[in-house]
Amino acid sequence: MEEVLEKPVTCTGRLAPSPTGALHLGNVRTFMIAYLRARSQGGRLLMRMEDLDHPRDKPGAAREAIEDLRWLGFEWDGEIVFQSGRRELYRDAIGKLREKGLAYPCTCSRKDVESAQSAPHEGEQLRYPGTCRGKHETFPPGACWRFRVDGDSRVAFDDAFAGRFEQDVGETLGDFPLARDEGGAGYTLAVVVDDAEMGVTEVVRADDLLPATPAQILVQRALGLPTPGYFHVPLVVGPDGRRLAKRHGDTRISSYRARGARPERIIGYLAESFAWAEKGEEIRLADLVERFSSATIPHEPLVADFDVF
Ligand code: GLU
Ligand code: ZN
Repeated sequence: MEEVLEKPVTCTGRLAPSPTGALHLGNVRTFMIAYLRARSQGGRLLMRMEDLDHPRDKPGAAREAIEDLRWLGFEWDGEIVFQSGRRELYRDAIGKLREKGLAYPCTCSRKDVESAQSAPHEGEQLRYPGTCRGKHETFPPGACWRFRVDGDSRVAFDDAFAGRFEQDVGETLGDFPLARDEGGAGYTLAVVVDDAEMGVTEVVRADDLLPATPAQILVQRALGLPTPGYFHVPLVVGPDGRRLAKRHGDTRISSYRARGARPERIIGYLAESFAWAEKGEEIRLADLVERFSSATIPHEPLVADFDVF
């Protein structure tokens, strides 16, 4: 008798919101691409809440983001993964790096350490020259963990949307932070550990994180983990050309919703920006799976008109 083989899963994507604020149009536009890249290939889509950034995480924001996403028509496979429940995995990873001499405690000023706790959207990472390399035998109070960027630190990869990207991590970031305290985990470490553990094969996110990617690749290599595919897409910006923020007014999904906007209208507006829908069209996210094409995603940021709903 012939064996019935299950259709192989070609692609595993993920949505990875941070509950540091409410979900807004910019997040949703990126998530639409992540969703459609996975679903149009019959792939899996996972959901991970990146809730490691106390005290910037806002109470209730994780639950609200999930409600907003469901209201917009997003669905995903399996349980939601909360990073706050996975500290042991991150600790193990630091232990492995430590054994290889690739993680060390640093007691330098906390400023750049703090700023690296979250995804560095505004290019806020500073170059650290390695002052504390080989200095601390044990973990001093108040120290952070840093990654030792040794040898040839040039990283090059082909982003499936943004194209070739190259960076010398040693020259740009130096020994970047892994965690801001002994048992903690910062953005870079957590993202690397989780994407590998969850079996993510493609990372879709906004292109302000493109310069944060080479450091992640170095950590993947150091831990013997695979490098996923990357697909970095342009941001939504305000009329002033800057990354969507409070100064541009209220673009929170929850506010549009409270004002009676329809999810199909919001999805339609964003779909139109990718040429997947006609002007003014209302459409459900699931109905875009058939229309999806990466080829029409513009390479420039979307200057959004926020009062259309
Ligand atoms: N949670 C991060 C953010 O919202 C995104 C991380 C990622 O996609 O790698 O900025
Ligand atoms: Zn130091």
